[in-house]
Amino acid sequence: MREPDNAGKGDSEWGFLLTTRALIFLGALASCAGLGAGALPASAGTLTDYRLLVLGAAPVKWGSSVLGTGTAVSYAIVSHDTAFEGARNCGAVGSVDELLASSDTSRLAFVGEVAGAFAAWSAAADIRFAAAPPDEADILIGAQLAPRGRAFTNVEFVASAEGGAGRITRSVICLNPLEGWKVGFDGNLDVYDFRYSLIHEIGHAIGLDHPGVPGELMDFRYLEEFSELQAGDRAGAVDLYGPVPAPVSVSSIDGADISIGGGAITVRISDAD
Ligand SMILES: [Zn+2]
Repeated sequence: MREPDNAGKGDSEWGFLLTTRALIFLGALASCAGLGAGALPASAGTLTDYRLLVLGAAPVKWGSSVLGTGTAVSYAIVSHDTAFEGARNCGAVGSVDELLASSDTSRLAFVGEVAGAFAAWSAAADIRFAAAPPDEADILIGAQLAPRGRAFTNVEFVASAEGGAGRITRSVICLNPLEGWKVGFDGNLDVYDFRYSLIHEIGHAIGLDHPGVPGELMDFRYLEEFSELQAGDRAGAVDLYGPVPAPVSVSSIDGADISIGGGAITVRISDAD
């Protein structure tokens, strides 16, 4: 069994840590080891099949500090070397070109895996993602410039003045370019599937911790037993961002029904008569 990802431990192979800057902001310099230690009562699912990422004594999320509120987040694949002052992990990331070359994966295929990973979360809860230029994006994905472990996510946040969830201000996902990566499962647990790994890291990037039980994609083990979000993963996302809005019919003109929902605008044109 692989156990690649131990939250809050600096030597984890596949994990995440908050930044020094965020810690200093909160005046909680010693709290790093407590990452994920405070499971919150779950409003959906069970207490143990998901766990919100707790930073500075509160869960963190994008957008509104009110749990269950949807939002939109932008992302980019890093194009040039970028340093993040104060970051515990992913402190310096760069282009994934060499990582892709050594993994025999085309950039087009990787872009598709990234988009697919974000889409998995959009299909689970009211959080939408759109690609943006790297210097404007909320979530950045790049290759580690100082390779270690497998993959990390660094979450920057500011505490809520009103006592609600902290507001995530930037997340950086970094992959180790010296490790083997692949598209799809093949049973080799030493070479990680891009999409599975990215879905997991994006889960951290939007405010989820390891659930503490196996059987969820947010569990830290890499096992290739399933490739999609599990019930606890989805419940955690809904706790943070609310359910995917049901399609709402907003107009009906000359036989064309236009609906908006789930990140899509649908136009149905029917032949009357
Ligand atoms: Zn993890």
